[in-house]
Amino acid sequence: MSTTAEPGVAEPAATGVHERFTALAERQIELGEVRGAAAADPVNLPMIRHWTAAMGDANPVYTDAAFAGASVHGEIVAPPAMAQVWTMPGLGGGKGGTSPVDELMVALDEDGFTGVVATNCEQTYHRYARLGERLVPATRMTGLAGPKTTALGVGYFVTWLVTWYSEDEPVAEMMFRVLKFRPREEKAAPEERTRYPLRPAVNRDTAFFWEGVQEGELRIQKCGDCGELRHPPGPVCPSCRSANRVYAVASGLGEVYSFVVHHNPPVPGIETPFVVAVIALPEGIRVVGNVVECSPEKVGIGMPVRVEYREMDDELTLPMWVPRES
Ligand code: ZN
Repeated sequence: MSTTAEPGVAEPAATGVHERFTALAERQIELGEVRGAAAADPVNLPMIRHWTAAMGDANPVYTDAAFAGASVHGEIVAPPAMAQVWTMPGLGGGKGGTSPVDELMVALDEDGFTGVVATNCEQTYHRYARLGERLVPATRMTGLAGPKTTALGVGYFVTWLVTWYSEDEPVAEMMFRVLKFRPREEKAAPEERTRYPLRPAVNRDTAFFWEGVQEGELRIQKCGDCGELRHPPGPVCPSCRSANRVYAVASGLGEVYSFVVHHNPPVPGIETPFVVAVIALPEGIRVVGNVVECSPEKVGIGMPVRVEYREMDDELTLPMWVPRES
């Protein structure tokens, strides 16, 4: 490789980068399907049991040998949606082997397209996997599209297809697409109040809630017939099917029921990390919101919180949750 740029004559960097990505993608697509490392473990009952428990799938055909034996399968089978589980390398990376996508991902990272967000995932199941089968993934890079301007920043969509084989028989496949983007730089305009980037979708079902927030009230939708509370708001009562809607005003107290700490991808205009929590209200329903005024390490399940209304910009007020004494 040699560089021929004369001093002071800048090469159109963006074009060069784009051509490099395109050439790399074409080369990877030509490789066709590349087999990866076989699953660390054969399809097995303990992993199925953990997965179905986590997913809340109680179908006995996955865990009960007697039931499965009498079913059309004649034996225990794995949930098809577990396909990817068997060959996940785990947090340590493991000996996952290389895939035709790796090189392109590294090249995108190196050029500053460090953000990543999954945009599409479509799975196709050919048959159920059975206990003892050791699945092998094979990856085929199928496309690169970009550069595209998105809300997150300029980026490239990278698409690939993974097929899981048992011996030479395909069991399942998955089309996966990610957006690799260059995180947008935050604008330095301290005097100007920036528009908060995450805005709620207000419609006829949810308008009463946002009007409540403006008034400093946490309004919870209530069935006008059976009186059941529900959240998020919807057009029909799930209990009695009544479309008659009113609302109750909640106390504004709650407890953290569950939460995540968001580190990546970067959200333009919002400082990371931030906490997104499911708040259990004493009224018996749960709402999603941010926990603020508390470092993420201090947030815990069961932590008592209360709602506060924050003006995010000139037009938007959002309910936020802050710690309180229990
Ligand atoms: Zn009802």
